[in-house]
Amino acid sequence: MNFKRVQEDGLAWLAWSLEDVFPELSYRSWIRCGGVSLPPYDGLNLSYGVGDDPDRVSQNRRLVRLSMALNELISVGQVHGSNTLILSAKEKPQPVREVHGIDILITDIPGLGLLIKQADCQAVALYDPENQVIANIHCGWRGNVHDVIGQAVGHLRAGFGTRPENLRAALSPSLGPCCAEFINYRKEFPEKFWPYQVRPHFFDLWRLSCDQLQQAGVRPGNIHVAGWCSRCQEKDLFSYRRAQVTGRNGTVIALRRP
Ligand SMILES: [Zn+2]
Repeated sequence: MNFKRVQEDGLAWLAWSLEDVFPELSYRSWIRCGGVSLPPYDGLNLSYGVGDDPDRVSQNRRLVRLSMALNELISVGQVHGSNTLILSAKEKPQPVREVHGIDILITDIPGLGLLIKQADCQAVALYDPENQVIANIHCGWRGNVHDVIGQAVGHLRAGFGTRPENLRAALSPSLGPCCAEFINYRKEFPEKFWPYQVRPHFFDLWRLSCDQLQQAGVRPGNIHVAGWCSRCQEKDLFSYRRAQVTGRNGTVIALRRP
């Protein structure tokens, strides 16, 4: 198993086995228990954009930051696009927190956590151990349509010299093939996605993302899928498909401070 559930100090997350191999890597896909948000956002809602009390969201983010010993937690306004925010040690970045219109986060700065918020979408985390650079990608089905994964790998190659065959990838909990129903798939999906239909109108977006990672050069053995469905696991995960007014889970990847 490449992921395991960890519970500590009232918070819970999915840990990635790769942290045992690369001690400089820190990854947590946060579970909704713990945190201070009230229903229907209970408890560890990490999004300011869903109607929750912003003070409670700030407290939740603080819990995440402290628990992971981060200097800073970077989050952006996600729009199902492919714009990219690159924070590089070479460029002395200005502090940024909630830039809008970004779905790919990349950094080589230790202590800086990249937060992707999701409730059914995938957070696809990438780690390049050779060049010590990480990415976190917000990938819903629209992200698959414009291959946001391939674009992120392209930025890593161009900006950091990443060789895709070295990349490690983690797919967070998200909408599983059991629940990913697309009635209008003929309009929404290009025809090349249709073979991912597992029964009428239901699609395996996990396999689709795995294939897009491989098309970008990531080795199949380096791709790890959490395999938790957000809609099925109500106790642990927020799901927009299950309840339109709800919170957002968060997946954070970071390089540890030396
Ligand atoms: Zn499901």
